[in-house]
Amino acid sequence: MHLSLYRKFRPQSFEEMVRQEHVVTVLKNQIETGTVGHAYLFCGPRGTGKTSVARIFARAVNCEEPKNGSPCGVCPTCRALAQGSLDVAEIDAASNNGVAEMRDLREKVQYPPVTGKYKVYIVDEVHMLTDSAFNALLKTLEEPPAHAIFILATTEPHKIPATILSRCMRLDFKLLPEEDLENHLKRILKEIGREYEEEAVSAIARAGAGSDRDMLSIAEMCLAYGEKLTYEGVTAVLGAADFNETAALCEAVISLDMPAAIERTESILSAGKSVGVLCRDLLEMLNRVAIAKTCRTAEKLLSLPKTQFARVREIAQKADGRAILRATEILARTETDLRLVSSPRICLETAIMKISVPAADDSVDALTVRLNALEQRLKEGNFVSAPAPVPAASPAQPSAPAVPAKTVPEEPQSAPDEYEFPMEEPVFEEAFFPDAPARTAPVKEPIKEPVKEPPKPVEKPAEKPQTAPISGLSAEIVYGKFMRLLRKTSKNGVLFTMCMDLEAKFEGDTLVLYTDSETVARSLSKEDHTAVMSEVFSQLGVSSFAVKLKGAAKKGENPLDQFKKDFGDYPVEIK
Ligand SMILES: [Zn+2]
Repeated sequence: MHLSLYRKFRPQSFEEMVRQEHVVTVLKNQIETGTVGHAYLFCGPRGTGKTSVARIFARAVNCEEPKNGSPCGVCPTCRALAQGSLDVAEIDAASNNGVAEMRDLREKVQYPPVTGKYKVYIVDEVHMLTDSAFNALLKTLEEPPAHAIFILATTEPHKIPATILSRCMRLDFKLLPEEDLENHLKRILKEIGREYEEEAVSAIARAGAGSDRDMLSIAEMCLAYGEKLTYEGVTAVLGAADFNETAALCEAVISLDMPAAIERTESILSAGKSVGVLCRDLLEMLNRVAIAKTCRTAEKLLSLPKTQFARVREIAQKADGRAILRATEILARTETDLRLVSSPRICLETAIMKISVPAADDSVDALTVRLNALEQRLKEGNFVSAPAPVPAASPAQPSAPAVPAKTVPEEPQSAPDEYEFPMEEPVFEEAFFPDAPARTAPVKEPIKEPVKEPPKPVEKPAEKPQTAPISGLSAEIVYGKFMRLLRKTSKNGVLFTMCMDLEAKFEGDTLVLYTDSETVARSLSKEDHTAVMSEVFSQLGVSSFAVKLKGAAKKGENPLDQFKKDFGDYPVEIK
């Protein structure tokens, strides 16, 4: 029979436990002094040893000659319990959440133990019990027979009723440090005679995230991958993105380059990686960058291959510490949210946008990040890759439409100006945080665009001009209409965001949208995006539009053009 590593190497004595000394010491002392209690509550994350300790404890209290608080393993009682005995019962509340089981338990607990001194009931995942089951359990706990010991184990102590809590001795299990997980895994690998690379063991221990069980099940998959445990094999098994891809995404995110961040996210996800794994990979990368930025012993701590560590350090040197922290906080929240939302991909992409566009966020952290980025840009004299391509929905923004067609901004550092477009509503916030209260007074416009009607311009071509007459409107107004309609008709938040900082101009009959960003220009020219855009434009009566890189349009007005020229011309024509 195949036994999983976790079960095969389950500790049999307190000495074999990985950490949790604070719990083990208490229990050992109680056994040695004969002062065991009747009810314990073991709290802590999964895979930290709650059930293992409960089982050892159950044997130790019954052992005739406990050694140093642990069961001796050789006395008749120990041997009987090893065979399985009615005196130690394990109940999984996750599958037995009924009152019937608890009543049954209440009845059976009255009979004295068969082999040892105590009957021990281990109730796993006790928070899963129903209210009436808890009540039944409570009655037993209120007047337990002298020979009964209850060990309730849970990952969610806050769900345990206070009446139960007050009758238990609570012991908290902690997540295991990576170093201990590593040592445990190495011990096991030596015992089963498998070779390993240090880096592979580190990676598995890290992936275990504090849980011995999780680590060992990951190790098991990795061991099946190849004879020797290699870092490469582990990476392949964990489905971790190519390190470089994650690193590049991380770099884009914390340098507030949203278009690049979104494009990289899309490309990693379309390569088949799951949203959850990407989120975790990115968090891990941020963590590495944070360590590389702050710890002198980072290289040792991270135990990455040399080239990878060099890359992490490179990102860390350029990064703003506040930005790393803020990104980590947002993503950590997102990781939790991902389990609850119906469309995790949008959830993650929104988080990435939020991180890389601190303008959309008015927390102190976001403001600090913006300030640092601004200072950095001032220092570098570089105003081109403005990291805030969002019309900040500030109350100062008037709802007046159509500032007459903007000429090229003379002062490029006035970023908000450059990104303003004539829209009456705070577009970004509404689009991405629909539940957030609007910060500007919501000026509802009387004229509604034809949203709900599914667009059928093909069938009734004659009506097209009627629905949206654009003649005589300035390019900016048309662009504003386009953005509103795009927001209402397309669920693609990425596309919407990329369209946000464009400058619109009519060139003949063609509406040309200029962008500063080569990435945006390239991405908007992709077929799936142009299809959506052209659909929306056609509803507005615009039959021809194009996306162009700004550099080509403006010549020699300021030193920035030098930079823009480096990107070259990237016009995209769509007819
Ligand atoms: Zn014994």
